[in-house]
Amino acid sequence: MNRQFKITGGRNLRCKGWRQEGLLRLLENVLAVGEDPEHLVVYAALGRAARDWPSHDKIVETLMTMSEEDTLVVQSGKPIGLIRTHVDAPIVIMANCNMIGHWATAENFYDWEKKNLICWGGLTAGDWQYIGSQGVIQGTYEIFMRIAERHFGGNLRGRFILTSGLGGMGGAQPLAGRMAEAAILCIEVDEAHIERRMEIGYLERRAASLDEALAMIADARKDKRGLSIGLCANAATIYPQMLERGIIPDIVTDQTSAHDLVYGYVPDTVTLAQARALRESDPKRLMAESTKSIVRHVTAMLGFQKAGAVVFDNGNMIRSQAKDGGVADAFSIPIFAEAFLRPLFARAIGPFRWIALSGEECDIAKIDDYALERFAENKILSNWISLARKHVPFEGYPARIAWLGYGDRSDLALAVNTMVRESKLDGPVAFTRDHLDAGAMSNPYIMTQNMKDGSDAICDWPLLDAMANCSSKADLVAIHSGGGGYSGYMTSAGVTVIADGTTEAAGRLKLALDNDTSLGIMRYADAGYDDALDEAAKKNVRYFRLGDN
Ligand code: NAD
Repeated sequence: MNRQFKITGGRNLRCKGWRQEGLLRLLENVLAVGEDPEHLVVYAALGRAARDWPSHDKIVETLMTMSEEDTLVVQSGKPIGLIRTHVDAPIVIMANCNMIGHWATAENFYDWEKKNLICWGGLTAGDWQYIGSQGVIQGTYEIFMRIAERHFGGNLRGRFILTSGLGGMGGAQPLAGRMAEAAILCIEVDEAHIERRMEIGYLERRAASLDEALAMIADARKDKRGLSIGLCANAATIYPQMLERGIIPDIVTDQTSAHDLVYGYVPDTVTLAQARALRESDPKRLMAESTKSIVRHVTAMLGFQKAGAVVFDNGNMIRSQAKDGGVADAFSIPIFAEAFLRPLFARAIGPFRWIALSGEECDIAKIDDYALERFAENKILSNWISLARKHVPFEGYPARIAWLGYGDRSDLALAVNTMVRESKLDGPVAFTRDHLDAGAMSNPYIMTQNMKDGSDAICDWPLLDAMANCSSKADLVAIHSGGGGYSGYMTSAGVTVIADGTTEAAGRLKLALDNDTSLGIMRYADAGYDDALDEAAKKNVRYFRLGDN
């Protein structure tokens, strides 16, 4: 079948209500903005929107025909059936890629994936919350700005960032770097991905060689001008080359799909085409080659660190892959969440997002105007929205990401729901967030590394979060665990609520968004973070402080 991957927009309902229609539009959206929609792959190498095409088509048919009194049950991207619930229950509940502890290995994942028993939902692919590269852009920008404050006197003008990977999420890096006014060089092995980031306006220039790229960087630094450059090459070749030549950037990171040694990372000993062929013919050899290549890649990152660069892991498991390959000090590289964002997460301030289901950009502009006025005193938000409306192009359904916390999320959502009711917007708006949020994720190598109380690998929190969201009338609730190299390393929860202008939607938004974030505050308060205890006291979050924490 010749499938079209585009968004619908407009006010026409194809479902029995906006809750179902909103979720259907979000499913269409993740494919419209995804990396390889023909294979249902949205981002992060193998993060899929649905198990397979029959599953996808049944989900679509069910959303179009189901009533609000039923709930659709999805297991690893496959619709299993409808259960009779009630109008306050979620429209969709999902569990994606959750494997029992001892069995949760990459090998079992690939085996069960091939047998079509399981699929990985990424964080936001399987539960249809992905909004393209914008999804992580504010997080990336805030990391760069925290580094600027800590190491470079408050700004990155004239500074040089080296990174790699221009895929679904990594593609946000060049724009985030330029917004932070740095000169940023992105190494990407797939020419088509460089092309795509240029087409959608996330990447400015392409260099034909390392020397040309370095000359462009030098010019931009001299003029203290923000600039983003893509170079088609393998990071495991370029990083060591630069180190050997004594070219030390100010900041170094990496966002290749290093978590997946088969379908994600491309080793420097083979071409892209050879890597693709090996995925089928000899995945074991490919895994071994990827590990060796990551060893060279991370050894160079450690070299940059020793030479004075600020080096950090951008959430792709590259340190653990390198450690498995024998790099004993791989974990000397800090993880971004602990190094730069934990004070925000401790207050449950995290990557909240909203999506205009009308398809109209003016709806986002009106919400931007409202948010700038309502949160005028919130410097992070007002700086971000002002910058984003200038620099961040829309993909698929127009959307905005902005880091907000307890109370502020529901305030904004309720105001937007009223705007929908009063026809000030062209259609309903979906509210959701990244799984990388205070109460929603346990991942000891990314989100929860070095928690104050040592609770890094305890994943009760995302499970409680998902149950709380179901009890709080959210429209979609999902529990995800890791696939590929993330197998056994993470569990997270996702939530979506549709603001369709009704009183019922207002009730759902208030309960779900407040309870979701209050659990985040409780999680960090319980781990002993003063910021969380302070936030709980300020916002009347009813956390029970027992014992010494
Ligand atoms: P993706 O699979 O869409 O893109 C990865 C890109 O890396 C591809 O374009 C690929 O060609 C390129 N690549 C692979 N090996 C390379 C190499 N050796 N040299 C140069 N380029 C190479 O993945 P994505 O969605 O962009 O995510 C990237 C990684 O970041 C994943 O591991 C993902 O799980 C992680 N991630 C982190 C966060 C976060 O919060 N920090 C958020 C989302 C995703």
